[in-house]
Amino acid sequence: MKAARLYGPGEMRIDEVPVPEPGPGEVLLQVLTVGVCGSGVHYYLDGGIGDDKVVDPFVIGHEFSARVATLGPGVAEPLLGKRVAVEPAISCGTCELCLAGHPNLCENILFCSTPPTQGALQEYMVHPAELCFPIPDSISDEEGAVLEPLGIALHTVELAKLHPGDTIAILGCGPIGLLTLQVARLSGARAAYVTDVVPERLAMAERFGASATFRADEGDPVSWIWAETGGRGVDVAFETAWAEETVAQGAQVARRGGKLILAGIPREDVATYPAHAARRKGLTIKYVRRMKHTYSRAIPMVRDGLVDVASLVTHRFPLERAADAYELAASYKDGVMKAVIEVSK
Ligand SMILES: [Zn+2]
Ligand SMILES: [Zn+2]
Repeated sequence: MKAARLYGPGEMRIDEVPVPEPGPGEVLLQVLTVGVCGSGVHYYLDGGIGDDKVVDPFVIGHEFSARVATLGPGVAEPLLGKRVAVEPAISCGTCELCLAGHPNLCENILFCSTPPTQGALQEYMVHPAELCFPIPDSISDEEGAVLEPLGIALHTVELAKLHPGDTIAILGCGPIGLLTLQVARLSGARAAYVTDVVPERLAMAERFGASATFRADEGDPVSWIWAETGGRGVDVAFETAWAEETVAQGAQVARRGGKLILAGIPREDVATYPAHAARRKGLTIKYVRRMKHTYSRAIPMVRDGLVDVASLVTHRFPLERAADAYELAASYKDGVMKAVIEVSK
């Protein structure tokens, strides 16, 4: 079978590798569609994120839909042949954090596309059966791939403990920002102020419920949000870009006693924001670490048309051209929002 493997920064090759065998409790998945994610772009460009470095040829890709091709020992028959969305994080279920209901913070976590666990840019892969969630025929292969970032958005909004009537800022409207916007609106956000530097993204934000949008490269987003909210600031600022300045902007636009939720992934290891402003306001700052328990909601939300994930997919590539998909996503060119790689059909 074919696998797109990363050998170092910007160096991806299509290799012929053996089809793996599922062990007890596992299934063999035929990968259908894989979404290009910002974290994958970090791997592609830099060969890693922080301490997680690519060693040896490595397969990235963790947002994907698949078909269950064969069952390992002990897996119940009904899953065979099903199209599934896949939770990429494999938690141990027995550590302190897992037992406390936080599998996303598991001490022993393995994650597809974080070394040493290979990702989805290959024709077949094995994965625990319990992390495969059947999707109905009405959800396409590419929508199935976007259920993973939708899960991140659900978790992001949950962390904010949003109240009906809250005002929010979304700083950066790539896929996570736009999905967070949709979920926050469904959760009762009364007004959403959205910033980005890409006009197409802001246009999409308006379709998805932004009250007002602002080109962050054409002025000061902080004074804009301050003016829009009559000098109060927003109840919750969602940082969904990590464009160096957006963390500081988030700390500045949140109201007194407000919240700053950090969902972006930094390229550098240091974050800076005005500490006195944050301290005087008594700001609550939370980091988003992946997600937990989201598929049982994400799947019916898409099935019932509550959230639009299909419109996020703007570009499609075959497996042979996976590197082009990452190059495009890194360039922000051609109106790219979510590029996907069609591994099998
Ligand atoms: Zn992702
Ligand atoms: Zn654990």
